[in-house]
Amino acid sequence: MANPVVAIVGRPNVGKSTVFNRIAGERISIVEDTPGVTRDRIYARSEWMGQAFNLIDTGGIDIGDEPFVTQITEQAEIAIDEADVIVFVTSVKEGVTDADEKVARILYKTDKPVILAVNKVDNPEVRSEIYDFYSLGFGDPVPISGTHGIGTGDLLDLIVKNFPEDATEEIDDSIKFSFIGRPNVGKSSLVNAILGENRVIVSNIEGTTRDAIDTKFTTDDGSVYTMIDTAGIRKKGKVYENTEKYSVLRAMQAIDRSDVVCVVLNAEEGIREQDKHVAGYAHDAGRGIVIVVNKWDTLQKDSYTMKEFESHIRSEFQYLSYAPIVFVSAKTHQRLNELPKLIRRVDENHSKRVSSAVLNDVIMDAIAHNPTPTDNGKRLRIYYATQVAVKPPTFVIFVNDPELMHFSYERFLENQLRAAFDFEGTPLHLIERRRK
Ligand code: GDP
Ligand code: GDP
Repeated sequence: MANPVVAIVGRPNVGKSTVFNRIAGERISIVEDTPGVTRDRIYARSEWMGQAFNLIDTGGIDIGDEPFVTQITEQAEIAIDEADVIVFVTSVKEGVTDADEKVARILYKTDKPVILAVNKVDNPEVRSEIYDFYSLGFGDPVPISGTHGIGTGDLLDLIVKNFPEDATEEIDDSIKFSFIGRPNVGKSSLVNAILGENRVIVSNIEGTTRDAIDTKFTTDDGSVYTMIDTAGIRKKGKVYENTEKYSVLRAMQAIDRSDVVCVVLNAEEGIREQDKHVAGYAHDAGRGIVIVVNKWDTLQKDSYTMKEFESHIRSEFQYLSYAPIVFVSAKTHQRLNELPKLIRRVDENHSKRVSSAVLNDVIMDAIAHNPTPTDNGKRLRIYYATQVAVKPPTFVIFVNDPELMHFSYERFLENQLRAAFDFEGTPLHLIERRRK
């Protein structure tokens, strides 16, 4: 379930972000279409030869106003702490520099595989210069050119070859969920409060490649849950721990391992820009989502408060219209026993399958009530629909011409599906295919 993590390190200007974008490929643009998501990505899901992995550009994690040397040192530390495979990027243009040697010295401390890439090898003439890089002590340097896409295939082959064998976690059928949100919204308090309310079966399951600590518990009705650790064990004394980009990174890793993500908001402080980033990541990943408004005890309430807060959330998070909202307090435990049940329902909807017969009845009914759009006299024809995947439910709709499927009509079909089946909490993916 957890994909291996690859981290890119190196001093500034060697081409880390260029290499990152090259490896991440077009997947990045999908994420960037979501409103409220920052452009400067440091995390991407990627795939090579059928092997999925997650990629981190540590160069994008700036450690406050720290001096240059501290920055590159901390970034290398993050790579060591978070990654399964480290790609150490250097540049043939400047040759081996003092800063490269600093990075190398930190990487000597880890047993994890380190692949040395020499970037900016844009043409064969400079290839012979890569031998200087043996002096860094990481074996054969791999020549690449991030801007021209040369050598990245070989680099990816090496990366995949170095993935740990046990990178995949044991599969169990507990419901995996996590709390994500900006600092101080009350994630740790919610974790503790939930555990206080329920029976903890096995706590602190270690043994994943990274240092996540998950907790398994049962509720009174016998359902089993695994709470995925987000904040991670606090890395005491690490300078980078409180930087925003690093907390985003931890959130991304938790999202990847969860079926259902609880996006936690703070009722006391209202909605901030950073909340939208966090929610955008969960949405892009196609996970089930519950919006949890915590610290509900801090508000002076009258009968309108909840409705007002809800409509505020709906307008700020329009792309999450499918997500249920629950108002809780980790302090007073208000409505906290409802949360696991809600998570379970969302998990069920997220993995729901509908039969083709029933699905096509719904689609044909929809078309009868609201005829398909036309473009230049040509009408969209929908022949048949079928569900091809779960988590999230994904439907392929066979049509005469996918170009004729207007965004608003697709939205209409999605709404009809939601009206016919309970898909609360889960995104739906609709894919149009031309019928052959
Ligand atoms: P970072 O600071 O390590 O993330 O480096 P960037 O990716 O921002 O790249 C720094 C500079 O090097 C930019 O001007 C890039 O266009 C350039 N660059 C990156 N990769 C290559 C490459 O393969 N060949 C050449 N000639 N320039 C590159
Ligand atoms: P995290 O950074 O998201 O993990 O947030 P914490 O769980 O550390 O909580 C941040 C602060 O908010 C702490 O001082 C908590 O005691 C407080 N807090 C958390 N949940 C609640 C709540 O439901 N009500 C109130 N009044 N305070 C809370």
